[in-house]
Amino acid sequence: MKAAVFENVGVLTVTDTAEPQLESSHDVKLKPLACGICGTDLHILHDPPTHPATIGAILGHEFVAEVLETGSQVTNVKPGDRVAVRPIVTCGACKYCLEGAPNHCQNSKVHGVFDNGGLAEVAVMPDTACIPISKDVPLEIAALTEPLACVYAAVKKIALTPGENVVVLGAGAIGLLYVALLKAAGAGQVIVVEPSQWRGDVAVQMGATHRIDPTQVNTAIEISTLLPGGADVVVDAVGSQLPVALDIAGRQARIILFGINTNAEAPIKQHLITEKELRLIGSFVGQQSFPDAIRLIESGIIDFSPIASHVYSLEDLPGKLDEIRGGTVIKAIVTI
Ligand SMILES: [Zn+2]
Ligand SMILES: [Zn+2]
Repeated sequence: MKAAVFENVGVLTVTDTAEPQLESSHDVKLKPLACGICGTDLHILHDPPTHPATIGAILGHEFVAEVLETGSQVTNVKPGDRVAVRPIVTCGACKYCLEGAPNHCQNSKVHGVFDNGGLAEVAVMPDTACIPISKDVPLEIAALTEPLACVYAAVKKIALTPGENVVVLGAGAIGLLYVALLKAAGAGQVIVVEPSQWRGDVAVQMGATHRIDPTQVNTAIEISTLLPGGADVVVDAVGSQLPVALDIAGRQARIILFGINTNAEAPIKQHLITEKELRLIGSFVGQQSFPDAIRLIESGIIDFSPIASHVYSLEDLPGKLDEIRGGTVIKAIVTI
């Protein structure tokens, strides 16, 4: 079968590899249909890598698939079903799994990063990773389930009340998902801070009420004009924007720190956290929110299609990586 393999530092190759087989009675053999490419994949393929991964692993952790075959003890899916795949398989027995925070599982397997993923013609996953999703959902939208689940988990922590004003820093795929979900949850003003004109336009399509280009204006001054009391909720979808977030947050605001940039070490004005009584909320992946994300996608309440901006074939993917890195792609979806 054909698969996109993390061949070596900086190298992704589409190559013929052995087709995986069912190994346990709880395994499910899948035919991946579409798979999203995200910042994590680009970090893995950076030279030198800026995210760890196993050399030789098949990448792809945001995929939707058709069930081909099931092990004898699988009861949640059957051949022919369409499923969204939870790439992080958790143990169910560690302290964090038992406390309802499986995203912190100490014994997890991460498919498409450390273990084989979905950029392949066939994949084998445990039954607990396979969550049914309607065939009525277009494939490129179904492939957004994983990032949407991560954002959904964070949005639950924000507990927005109607009319609260939000600022989202960064309008890549993740920032745009925040815009759409927070708007649907009843946000008043949704201000996006994003240097790309095109991404700013898409943010408005997704429900942003204002957009700010931080290369043209002073973000803090602009936001103090639009929101004199400051923002009720600030989302850092970039991973390095905490200093800005502290400046633009209103009193008793919540700041969601979602993006990850391991090089970000900017000095911060700690006194603002104390004086404004800010709450800083980290949010890391979101395996537990797959059912919520799928329900939201199936409901059709939000049109996610502008986010799935580019569709490529598996064979073309290695040659398209520079384009995906270039900033003109919001979300690349690979069809298989
Ligand atoms: Zn991802
Ligand atoms: Zn666990």
